[in-house]
Amino acid sequence: CFESLHGALGDCSCNVDTIDYFNNVKIFPRIQSLVSKDYFRFYKVNLKKECPFWADDSKCAMKYCHIKTCSKESVPGFDESEYWEESPARKYSKEAPKLCSQDSDHDPDLGYLNMTISAASQFEIAKWKAYDDSLENFCQSDDKDVEAEYIDLSLNLERYTGYKGPSAHRIWRSIYQENCFRPKTNPYQSFPYVLSSDLGNMCLEERVFYRAISGLHTSINIHLCSKYLLSEKKLGFAAPPEGEWGPNLEEFQRRFDPSQTHGEGPNWLKNLYFLYLLEMKALAKAGPYLEREDYFTGNSNEDEETRNAIKNMLGVIYSFPDHFNESLMFNGSKAATLKVEFREHFLNISRIMDCVGCDKCKLWGKLQTQGLGTALKILFSGKWNVEEDPEQGKLPLRHKSHKRLQRTEIVALFNAFARLSNSIRELENFRSMLSGNTNPR
Ligand code: FAD
Repeated sequence: CFESLHGALGDCSCNVDTIDYFNNVKIFPRIQSLVSKDYFRFYKVNLKKECPFWADDSKCAMKYCHIKTCSKESVPGFDESEYWEESPARKYSKEAPKLCSQDSDHDPDLGYLNMTISAASQFEIAKWKAYDDSLENFCQSDDKDVEAEYIDLSLNLERYTGYKGPSAHRIWRSIYQENCFRPKTNPYQSFPYVLSSDLGNMCLEERVFYRAISGLHTSINIHLCSKYLLSEKKLGFAAPPEGEWGPNLEEFQRRFDPSQTHGEGPNWLKNLYFLYLLEMKALAKAGPYLEREDYFTGNSNEDEETRNAIKNMLGVIYSFPDHFNESLMFNGSKAATLKVEFREHFLNISRIMDCVGCDKCKLWGKLQTQGLGTALKILFSGKWNVEEDPEQGKLPLRHKSHKRLQRTEIVALFNAFARLSNSIRELENFRSMLSGNTNPR
């Protein structure tokens, strides 16, 4: 699969080798360290939402699909009032966060909002805000969902879960068949839905959409190959067996070798690089905004470190020479209609994530979809920096007009990019295994 994974990527002036070097040397160590910080470690999500498209089959009993949740007290800097208004009493505490429990201990008070305005106007404001948000958003968000819980991502790593077969295929099929623009000349009824040779029959916007989804699919599948269940150790009579996880080269080849994928594997890998470029451009575009966030967790030292790490990483991202050029999109006579369609298709995909039949896969599927949705929002809506919108510079840093992104969107954006960065790094590992190095990394 690596033989043709070189050179031009298509739809941008960048090539694979430039990204390999830039990612593996410059981005990967920075982004992995960044997402291990408390601010990025906790993701607020509702995994119990009903599937809006078909009868729910998500009551999965596979043990590697299980999720460890957190109580709200274990989330550093937790403050529900923040999402309405400035929290007047935001204080730093030196207390270390408590560990997340193994069990789901969802607190029914989690959704309680500490508001100072009257109940009626709260309701009105909620409606206005939901309306305003829906105009810009490419993705549904669980941020204000009373059933949403905080999940410590470091306790729930993305890896092989055993989720496969009709349920997983139904999700991918719905995503490609119902929600991706497909070449009119080639309406496939089975996988693969889009052949790379047909991409030329699609307009740029349609191609970008398909390539982004395919890149996400690639990244998910690389993770399950690189953290595959290699063996299970029996620990004792009553204790559950413990898995041993590591790279599975055979599984990787089955999924990406041209001879086993109608020649598509290398193109799917290229779509990963393409998606990486797209999300990196969103980070660059919103950079000045992201640099002004305060990344509050309650621990002033850690928050300072996070802000510095963000500035450092964004500095590296700004220096990348061949960024994705989103200004070429949505320019033709049908631009407005196409943009609405593009957004609606993507919103639909974010809803399909509620139908994923394995909680661990759903967690990472939702996070990465929200990260991509946030990137699309940044690329295709509004003004993101002081140069484009000088009014922003006049407002105090934490004025609510600055709140263009919710905490969950920022957490999802950086974590989604970290996943892509990790996938590209894992490819290096598989490449060296293929060349006979039995002890990669
Ligand atoms: P699938 O990956 O199910 O793909 C179906 C078909 O799509 C393939 O036959 C091929 O024709 C086409 N295809 C494959 N890759 C691409 C691509 N990149 N671009 C375009 N077309 C493609 N499993 C885990 O073990 N851990 C996880 O964390 C996990 N997360 C998941 C998250 C989501 C949202 C979904 C839907 C599934 C997840 N899965 C996960 C399951 C995993 O993605 C596969 O569906 C499963 O392993 C079965 O693989 P498969 O070989 O049948 O092909």
